[in-house]
Amino acid sequence: MSHGSSNEERFRSLVEATPDTVILHAGGKLLFINPAGVRLLAASSPEELIGRPMKDFVQAGNRSIVLDRVNPPFTGPSKLTEDLMVRLDSEVIEVEVVGLPSSYENRPATQLVIRDITQRKRAEAALRASEQRYRSLFEGVPVGVYRISRRGELELLNGAMAELLGNRHRDALIGLDTGELYTNPDDRTVWKAIMQYEGRVTNFETQIQRLDGSKIWVRSHAQALHDEHGEVTGYEATVEDISDRKRVEEQLLHDALHDSLTKLPNRTLLMDRLSHCLARRVRFADYRCAVLFLDLDRFKMVNDSFGHAVGDHLLIQASHRLADCLRPNDTLARLGGDEFAILLDDVKDASNAVRVAQRIQQELEVPFQLEGREVYSSASIGIALSDGESRPEDVVRDADTAMYRSKSQGRAGYAIFDSRMHAEVSTQLQLETDLRRALASWQFEVFYQPIVALSSGNLAGFEALVRWRHPEHGLVLPGEFMPMAEETGLINPIGHGVMLEACRQMKVWNDRRAPREPVFISVNLSTRQFRQPDLFDQLSQLLDSSGLSGDRLTIEITEGAVMNEPDAVLQTLARIKRLGIRISLDDFGTGYSSLSVLHRLPFDRIKIDRWFVQHIGVDNGSDELVEGIVALCRGRRLDIIAEGVETNEQRQKLADLGCGFAQGFLFSEPISQEHAGRLLATPSPNFESM
Ligand code: C2E
Ligand code: CA
Ligand code: CA
Repeated sequence: MSHGSSNEERFRSLVEATPDTVILHAGGKLLFINPAGVRLLAASSPEELIGRPMKDFVQAGNRSIVLDRVNPPFTGPSKLTEDLMVRLDSEVIEVEVVGLPSSYENRPATQLVIRDITQRKRAEAALRASEQRYRSLFEGVPVGVYRISRRGELELLNGAMAELLGNRHRDALIGLDTGELYTNPDDRTVWKAIMQYEGRVTNFETQIQRLDGSKIWVRSHAQALHDEHGEVTGYEATVEDISDRKRVEEQLLHDALHDSLTKLPNRTLLMDRLSHCLARRVRFADYRCAVLFLDLDRFKMVNDSFGHAVGDHLLIQASHRLADCLRPNDTLARLGGDEFAILLDDVKDASNAVRVAQRIQQELEVPFQLEGREVYSSASIGIALSDGESRPEDVVRDADTAMYRSKSQGRAGYAIFDSRMHAEVSTQLQLETDLRRALASWQFEVFYQPIVALSSGNLAGFEALVRWRHPEHGLVLPGEFMPMAEETGLINPIGHGVMLEACRQMKVWNDRRAPREPVFISVNLSTRQFRQPDLFDQLSQLLDSSGLSGDRLTIEITEGAVMNEPDAVLQTLARIKRLGIRISLDDFGTGYSSLSVLHRLPFDRIKIDRWFVQHIGVDNGSDELVEGIVALCRGRRLDIIAEGVETNEQRQKLADLGCGFAQGFLFSEPISQEHAGRLLATPSPNFESM
């Protein structure tokens, strides 16, 4: 310590005022202590302390800096160290100490600056304990707890959360995009919207896909985390698996909507589905559905003479047979007793419903085997179609009315609700008769519509389109008779004839054109045709008998043909492709799962539906769709054919978008065989100058 009274005084007043303890000691004895030090050591005056051995203030057995510094020499300030000291009242306190070389009354001494950190240490210990408690809570709760970033990536999670996700290695889960877990991506959007408006999301129920692919239902609560500026930095959430509860709920819901005996939908569910169907009319103007009301003719007699158990069996067996007569989208319901109802989704007219009624009656002609007895039963069926503004109750009531009429006319019949529907059915039945005759005497002709390469304007191929040369009505377009042909199965022989004619013709034309570039022929296969078990044999025989090389033939199928049973479809397509035949996806853009189908199946060509082509340049959606398809097809080396091109603008726009081929009235309507032959005979058929 330097000499000179002013310096010394300044030092003293500083030392008097500081809240830290200042001690000077030398030779193991305390020489000076400031007022803060007197308070720290629980003395009443400095005199009580001065002259006492320093080790009095050090906890026995403790390696102490307070003692270490008792004997100098040391040269500079020591490191800040934590230490334990003993007060006069024997209480041990925790301190932070720094020592410096100094002097006292001209002798070397050690100066200690000491700060009491007992409070701070206690607070730290308490914090550690509470953190530990929180940690064990975080880890111990059977609920998933986690934190995600603003973008949804996992940042922190507990063991329960890792288990919920199906992966015990939680480090591997950090960074996982939780948004990808939703099985219904819409739920993510909903979650975000609620979070944005309310800052928190509570009781949010959704289904997620775990990492092993299994699906579970969860309920979660989440709240936003903010930084000091109030910006959202992430979210904190808890989540629990509620799959069991959901299953119970679903079971209850199922029970409430199904008949316990036959397990069929009950009246409530039927009415619900019917109202959904009727709502579709708003979007699809020509959409109609039908209800068949069925009453088993002999049920009462069976029940009365053989007992309820046998009656129950009859109902169950009958329900199986009825179900066999329906398409996947139709609903068979038991309304009670021996009454059933069938909702036929998407019917053209009453004749579709009549066909189902006839099929049911055929099915019921075979006797039932009930506990060793043969029992005959039949059904009376009433048919009603949705119409204009009809409500669900109306349609069912009309079907019921028609059923009573049918019953009054004798068993095993059917009746249609009104006379206009009668008329429809008879025209349809007439059409069916005519169509059978047309097949027998082959009144069909194949027309050919040119398909043009957009870059050169050259003719690349033809699409074969069937026409019916009706003896009275003249040339009939496929729209008039295809639905009936499809429904009755007549499409198979008709389609086969068309393919044979088109392939033979193409062979002749290409032979004539040689050595010029051959053109291809594209034929349509309806869903029913595509599902023929012997389709592959038919096609390979077709190539043999016509002599056409497989790679000159393309078949066009729609999504409907390939939607179900993807594995079986894939096999069929693979076999067909081995013949060299190309596969074209027709009417692309009109189906449900277009892009996914496109990804999975080995198509060679995509035909963009006319609707999109005609909206090109009119609405953005169409442009984007076409651009998207082009991009997708480029990567997979698929040809794109635009259908229904009618204007030069459309043609230009399609070419700009990168579409390779087009067909449509701009180039040519479908033309007769003779006309197509003349076109091919020109040196190089070109549509550049249109
Ligand atoms: P699709 O396969 O989509 O055939 C294209 C339809 O669009 C043809 O109608 C064609 O005449 C018409 N079209 C072509 N260019 C234009 C255009 O620029 N503007 C407009 N508005 N229409 C155009 P079509 O010949 O009446 O055939 C209708 C549907 O019948 C075909 O639709 C196809 O699904 C089916 N079809 C035709 N022939 C056969 C066949 O031999 N077998 C099978 N299974 N179905 C066929
Ligand atoms: Ca087509
Ligand atoms: Ca088409």
